[in-house]
Amino acid sequence: MISHASIAVRWAVLAAAALSACAGDDRDRGDFAATTVVATTSQVADFARAVGGNRAAVRQILQPNSDPHEYEPRPSDVKAVADAAVVLRSGGDLDEWLDGVLENAGSDATAVALIEGVKTRRGGGEVDPHWWQNPRNAVLAVAKIRDVLIAADPAGRAAYTANAAAYVAKLRALDRAIASCMRSIPAARRKLVTDHDALGYYAERYEIDVIGTVIPALSTQAQASAGEVSRLVRTIRAAGVSTIFPESSVNAKLTRAIARDAGAKVGPALYADTLGAEGSAGETYIGSLRFNTQALAAGFDGAQRRCQL
Ligand SMILES: [Zn+2]
Repeated sequence: MISHASIAVRWAVLAAAALSACAGDDRDRGDFAATTVVATTSQVADFARAVGGNRAAVRQILQPNSDPHEYEPRPSDVKAVADAAVVLRSGGDLDEWLDGVLENAGSDATAVALIEGVKTRRGGGEVDPHWWQNPRNAVLAVAKIRDVLIAADPAGRAAYTANAAAYVAKLRALDRAIASCMRSIPAARRKLVTDHDALGYYAERYEIDVIGTVIPALSTQAQASAGEVSRLVRTIRAAGVSTIFPESSVNAKLTRAIARDAGAKVGPALYADTLGAEGSAGETYIGSLRFNTQALAAGFDGAQRRCQL
């Protein structure tokens, strides 16, 4: 545990460093931050950075474009969790591997599963773990992160409250803009095919019909049978779907083959289970939803459509 005196010294050092050099990357301020957070997924880490601002050092376990369903934790993850004041998990079977990390770390950090504070849906009888695809759930998760950070670092209450409020305002504006974008497309054209069943929350929120997925499951660890693949090809043809969408963390080989057989185009890879690399359109959660929405709107419409997002 760091004493308050030591935090004051560290902030003074940081202030001096900032005067003498350009401020470094927010993500590398671990030694100076008032609290340390480990987040399992790229989306949860992005929310934590938005709320934590420069008071919280956020260590993100999953790197951009990696598949959370099949992650194998590393020793450095165990060390990060052991050192963290707050551990945030997305929850559900998406990051169940964190249990082993927590056990190995012998951590007494607060481990918070954000899925427990959001509105969940079921897919094929199971709880769908991809809750962040509905920005209204992101709003609920951000409120939870704010409360957890305040509990871990009470002196940061004002900063966390202000950061969360500013970010929530952006999320609400984005949610309204996506809704209006999707409403501008005839309902009959809002038919979605992706790699796995990851966009159910988005589809539910914006009234999109998920007519099938290449991997017919909530996890990427399942496999489609030959019968399921040919059924999906027939469904795509029958529904007149012109574009189907791969995902950035899933191999698109089967998706391309299905598109070819169904006479459909392959759209841009969506940010489904992961955000994108630094500098990409999907670098942030908000950026990922903007990108996905523009790609989907153009695919549904079969035109070069741009929405105001
Ligand atoms: Zn998934």
